Amino acid sequence: MTTLKRPDGRKVDELRPIKAKVGVVPNADGSAMFQSGDTIAIAAVYGPKKMHPQHSQNPEKGTLRCTYNMNSFSVTERIRSGPNKRAMEISKITEWALEPVLMLDKFPSQVVDVHINIIQADAGTRCAGINAAAMALAHAGIPMRDMVSSISVGKLDKTIVVDLNKAEEDWEEGEGPTDIPVSLTHSGEITHLQLDGKISGKQLNEAITMAKKASEKVYEIQKKALKEALEK
Ligand code: ADP
Repeated sequence: MTTLKRPDGRKVDELRPIKAKVGVVPNADGSAMFQSGDTIAIAAVYGPKKMHPQHSQNPEKGTLRCTYNMNSFSVTERIRSGPNKRAMEISKITEWALEPVLMLDKFPSQVVDVHINIIQADAGTRCAGINAAAMALAHAGIPMRDMVSSISVGKLDKTIVVDLNKAEEDWEEGEGPTDIPVSLTHSGEITHLQLDGKISGKQLNEAITMAKKASEKVYEIQKKALKEALEK
């Protein structure tokens, strides 16, 4: 197939080891942890509750409000956490990735708050955050048409690979790295796709096919964690 050697020795279509747990923040209405390799995301859901200020209310349907944050200790070099351009972008992207499966019309004028914290970062944090958030929303009992599972695919030089870690996102050889985070429903609809880099249409199709397969594995782990929480 390929001679490309990934830094951690994974096969091109091999995901990092995944761990997931539901109910990790007892005070929240719903919560979940999603870990992919060294990337760990925690999501906590509060709501639905009345939206304040009143002028922000949508009388037709509820509002999903996501807040993504990278903790100061999530990377080796301590960073300033809290809102910045990148965090605001990822918060918006997360809302867009999840909204299509949520039945927000059941909660007019209300808001569902989702707080996503990255406690350790090794790339793919927006995908891990979306996976944790989707589980936390289900755990909070927010009616959903389907699950959302997110994974990044990409290209290292000329080779398509799944679930890039930070060393791979910084790939310097040949054509360099291309990062394509994709979020999919279990029925296979894409709710979010970003592309950072350069790729041909043909290879993009290959990458999306790979993302679909990988998202199935993510889905199975999300489902298992939710089932375990329900059985308790
Ligand atoms: P994603 O985490 O979704 O891949 P980016 O491509 O924006 O999002 O970031 C890639 C990775 O770069 C992050 O997962 C993290 O490991 C690292 N990173 C992002 N922002 C910072 C920062 N301010 N300081 C150090 N590392 C960072």
